[in-house]
Amino acid sequence: MRNLGIYIQVPFCQTKCTYCNFHTGVVSAGRFAPYAEAVCLEIREHQALLRAGGVKWSAENQVANSVYIGGGTPSLLEPTLLADMLNALRDSFHCAWEEVTLEADPETIEAEKAAQWAAAGINRISLGTQSFADQELKAAGRMHRREDIYHAVSVLHAAGIRNISFDLIAGLPKQSRESWLASLHDLVELSPAHVSVYMMEIDEGSRLGLEVLQGGTRYSARDLPSEEQMAEFYENAQAILKAAGYRQYEISNWAKPGFASLHNLKYWKREPYLGFGAGAHSFSGTQRWANAHDAASYVAAISAGRSAIENVERVSREQAFEEELFLGLRQLGGIDLHRIQREYSVNLEEKIGRLASAGMIELEGELVRLAAGKLSISNEVIVELLR
Ligand code: SF4
Repeated sequence: MRNLGIYIQVPFCQTKCTYCNFHTGVVSAGRFAPYAEAVCLEIREHQALLRAGGVKWSAENQVANSVYIGGGTPSLLEPTLLADMLNALRDSFHCAWEEVTLEADPETIEAEKAAQWAAAGINRISLGTQSFADQELKAAGRMHRREDIYHAVSVLHAAGIRNISFDLIAGLPKQSRESWLASLHDLVELSPAHVSVYMMEIDEGSRLGLEVLQGGTRYSARDLPSEEQMAEFYENAQAILKAAGYRQYEISNWAKPGFASLHNLKYWKREPYLGFGAGAHSFSGTQRWANAHDAASYVAAISAGRSAIENVERVSREQAFEEELFLGLRQLGGIDLHRIQREYSVNLEEKIGRLASAGMIELEGELVRLAAGKLSISNEVIVELLR
């Protein structure tokens, strides 16, 4: 049996963060139930809908061992709607769930909800903490404050959910060296099982991105840290998390022993995953496809018995090779050079030798990995390998 990951996209948020350009919308709560119903229908009818969408897929010999409900802010939904989606999965796939993650924003977490999540089978929470500094959270348009994070963790622990992941963003407006170190200090004090640290990317389509381009003061674009400061923040995180017992296993991810994300590892290892919901992406090993981004169009299509799949792409051998390098080298475990050379009939020895001499990568037997101090320039190394 092969492992399968299931992703469910919930594209709704309470407000729009200033830096965000995801396909998520702020809608009335009345839209949640019809959306969840459409997701359940898509899950139950997945075989026919995939065929209609031009995808060759069979879940035969595959066991769904991870589920990730992401967004958006899926913790906004009534827990019964989330439970319905999980039940639809149980009815439609061979399931042996080891990890069922829900993305949640701290201010949406309440005792009753958390108890219902645990009862529905959710055993991991990915908490959108982003920062512990109230002035950064406010400037970014986040709804929660530092005290909400502490409250959320105690509520989740009381509900029996101890596998919690924190997200932090390096490079928020108004972030300083002191406030970044204070956020890392608070995080270590709360001791989550898993940590993701993302470098702020300024998207031109976000309100903050527009302000960077056009000027203005509303979203604190002038208070963005510099590239050099962000690189230093990343190095601070590496050092502090390592000292606190976390192992970095991917460019943006750290975990306590045994808590690396089973689901997210599938993306980097190119293992199959099936996505449900508006804008959800899927990968079978040989094909990639995605549903329509617009939630209303998605619900209309599924409710009418039509597939919501918009893009089906066959993954060519060249693309697969590039993905192996891009995704494989994000992991600190590295890639197996022998396997890649054999599978793709390529010879990388000379380039690898050159990059190793330049201190960009490290070799350990057949394993090739980015050198510890070069993680932030991974793209340059990969481009060199593909040349
Ligand atoms: S909560 Fe996440 S998805 Fe929603 S607006 Fe903020 S950054 Fe975007």
